[in-house]
Amino acid sequence: MDKIELKIKNTIEKNKLCNKKEKVLVALSGGKDSTLTAYLLKKLGYNIEGFHIDLEIGTYSKRCRESVEQLCKDLDIKLHVYDMKKEMGAGMCYLRTSIQSKQAKGNLKNCAICGVLKKWIFNKCARNLKADKIATGHNLDDEAQTFLMNFFKGNPKLSANSGAITQNIQDEKFIPRIKPLFYVAENDIRAYTKKLNLPVIYDKCPCALDSYRIEVRKFLNTLSTKEKENIVKNMEITMKKLQKSKENIIQYCQYCGEPSRNNICKKCKLMKF
Ligand code: SF4
Ligand SMILES: [Zn+2]
Repeated sequence: MDKIELKIKNTIEKNKLCNKKEKVLVALSGGKDSTLTAYLLKKLGYNIEGFHIDLEIGTYSKRCRESVEQLCKDLDIKLHVYDMKKEMGAGMCYLRTSIQSKQAKGNLKNCAICGVLKKWIFNKCARNLKADKIATGHNLDDEAQTFLMNFFKGNPKLSANSGAITQNIQDEKFIPRIKPLFYVAENDIRAYTKKLNLPVIYDKCPCALDSYRIEVRKFLNTLSTKEKENIVKNMEITMKKLQKSKENIIQYCQYCGEPSRNNICKKCKLMKF
């Protein structure tokens, strides 16, 4: 077994991310991270199905969808596709622009809006499909990046639920999210998916325009993998302490009924007000 595969296997087993009786829905974007997640979970014998959100971001989304379809065919796994235009009445670009055009939301970044909508869709659909876990392709660089951004903005508590498995949220309507690539550096994933010749779209999403995130990524790219690992390890130690003190009362959104920390969930706050 390759070094990277062993690392992922250890992450899954040590952190008890999932077991072989559970149904794991892999959130497939068409990119290298989620593609490798599905490939390895399948190789290791887990019970997986694919889930793809067609964001309707022009030809980019079309190519991503084709690559996900190819992967699921190659891996012989079932694929569920959520078409944003059909389900929500518009693609991500239109929804995001209309949310940003509201005065109070003008400063919200594309990825922040997209992230909230995608999490809402994942949870609701995974529950409807009776999945036990949702697997995403978040890697070491993503985690270090998000943690540093929250830290630099003076709000490290926003990372309190970070980890290889969603911490601290226990509710029957909430499907836990797992990140098998949590300790794997982005460069290693790119090299490995190329070596395996997996069907991957390597282009960046055309909507990823958050300049602050880009700056933090540039800074992280100057660090070694060891240093990135140290950031994430320290994050885990700090977050364990924060989790103990954090209130975790889950309510159901008064508009959509989805689990939320407030009486209106983040998605409904974005879409309705
Ligand atoms: S890069 Fe940002 S906008 Fe593009 S799919 Fe990811 S979260 Fe959405
Ligand atoms: Zn809601």
